[in-house]
Amino acid sequence: MSGYDFIVVGAGSAGAAVAYRLSADPANKVLLLEAGVADNPWTRLPVGSARLITNPAANWLYSSEPEPSTNGRRIPVPRGKLLGGSSAINGMAFVRGQAQDFDTWAQMGNPGWSYADVLPFFKRMESYEGGGDDRFRGRDGPVRVTDPPPREPIFQALIKAAAEVGIGQNPDYNGATQDGIVMSQATIVAGKRMSTARCYLDPIRKRPNLRIVTEALTERLILDGARCTGVRYSVNGTVHEATARREVVVCAGSVNSPQLLELSGIGQPERLKALGLPVNRALPGVGENLRDHYAPRTRWLVGAKGYTYNDTARGLGLVRQALHYAMARRGLLASVGAPMRAFVRSREGLEAPDLLLGWVTMFTEPGPKGPNIARQSGISCYAHPMRPESKGTIHITSADPRKPPAIRFNFLSAPVDAELTVKAIRIARAIMTAPTMKALQVTEQAPGPERQTDEAIIEWVKAAGETTYHPVGTCKMGNDAMAVVDARLRVHGIKGLRVADASVMPTLTSGNTNAPSIMIGEKAADMILSE
Ligand SMILES: Cc1cc2nc3c(=O)[nH]c(=O)nc-3n(C[C@H](O)[C@H](O)[C@H](O)COP(=O)(O)OP(=O)(O)OC[C@H]3O[C@@H](n4cnc5c(N)ncnc54)[C@H](O)[C@@H]3O)c2cc1C
Repeated sequence: MSGYDFIVVGAGSAGAAVAYRLSADPANKVLLLEAGVADNPWTRLPVGSARLITNPAANWLYSSEPEPSTNGRRIPVPRGKLLGGSSAINGMAFVRGQAQDFDTWAQMGNPGWSYADVLPFFKRMESYEGGGDDRFRGRDGPVRVTDPPPREPIFQALIKAAAEVGIGQNPDYNGATQDGIVMSQATIVAGKRMSTARCYLDPIRKRPNLRIVTEALTERLILDGARCTGVRYSVNGTVHEATARREVVVCAGSVNSPQLLELSGIGQPERLKALGLPVNRALPGVGENLRDHYAPRTRWLVGAKGYTYNDTARGLGLVRQALHYAMARRGLLASVGAPMRAFVRSREGLEAPDLLLGWVTMFTEPGPKGPNIARQSGISCYAHPMRPESKGTIHITSADPRKPPAIRFNFLSAPVDAELTVKAIRIARAIMTAPTMKALQVTEQAPGPERQTDEAIIEWVKAAGETTYHPVGTCKMGNDAMAVVDARLRVHGIKGLRVADASVMPTLTSGNTNAPSIMIGEKAADMILSE
């Protein structure tokens, strides 16, 4: 195949879905370009995410610029660099977000993105193996999703402690309502990670009309006036060009999609000129509107023995976990990054939850190849607002496609984010000091009982906060001056070019971002095929 109908740049959560749907029609010749490798052995085992988070073989390993809101720290920004993209290295929690998230997108000037509009795509993408209501859940889509029960005693204890402070359980947070404490639904089946490489690409590798090229860095889009006609990419130092008769679909993710547009002369004119790049299309919104979850991890020591993986998965315990995995495909090795979560409200009168708490039932400590299980027994609980209003930027600092762009989060620049972060931490404290937790001799390690005022808590957040790896919004859709794509994901002012990935989200969804990114890929393909 030389010329193509479609070129898809990036085989991540969204890109794999786009390639799957576009190549379903044998008449469409599709080229899928992925900068990363075809696979990494750690992607198969869920616990392997601990070996992927700092692994240059499968991860772009970006980090943010130092900022006052991080006390000058650089925050790690891991991104998957292999088939499956970030879905191949992520924590595997499956969270769609709230109906209100998508209704807000529609109200912001994006017809076709209300909850009623996107629900069919959420259903079509998944095979949900839990219970739930068929009005909301899909049963025969490519992405397999399970609902692990709260088997370990620590989860039972957390559910009880939450009930003691008035937080109930929810049978399906991806169903009618999101509220409540619950085990995370997971893109894990029979102890195996369900990345989009596995769910969307493995079944279609033999399609003769689809060519997948890995280790292929797309360096630039090829433009002919106001039309995108193809891409320039390099493999092992050799530069290639490919042409697209119909469209190029950029699915390179929230960091690399704005980077690729800027490298192609699409963005803020002054910035492009300063780097010696041509201005092919002035679009001031490229690389703006970055949002992410700034999520401090509160830490809790657990005195009672046998409740955390620190007690049950070290030394001989790890051998037992390996056997348990081999026999039953369960336990630590088959676990979601944050297996339990609670969607809660900061105050009465809200239409839906605005805060997320997520629990990791062990302490880890950094090791040369990634985090290891610590000796000290404890639980961490991250707590943050789900729809932060602080906005940052991602921009290139060089015309060289191999140079990482500069990531500036501007966390806490919207005062409401600081206010809600404090409220989330106070709710985490309420649960972790409820009678059931007291009985397990749970005591606060961080922020530390001495930090009680809002100011003291925020000082700690600035010193210790991390993200939950959900950057979105840097090529936002809309029809205002800062929008990069329209509601059909077409880049404003350029024909034959769309962006379809987490970067088009105008606001952050209420939860994790893999499921909505895949939905965006599904919907993009549907719009393309219907035109
Ligand atoms: C460590 C981590 C944990 C996470 N945990 C969860 C979780 O538990 N649940 C959840 O829902 N979400 C989680 N997320 C977030 C979620 O995985 C992402 O939001 C989602 O995968 C983004 O999808 P995407 O399609 O926008 O980008 P990606 O999936 O990142 O795909 C982009 C792809 O494009 C490729 N690419 C980039 N530039 C180029 C180029 N120039 N040429 C060719 N290819 C290129 C990349 O290599 C990558 O494969 C996590 C993310 C990370 C990193």
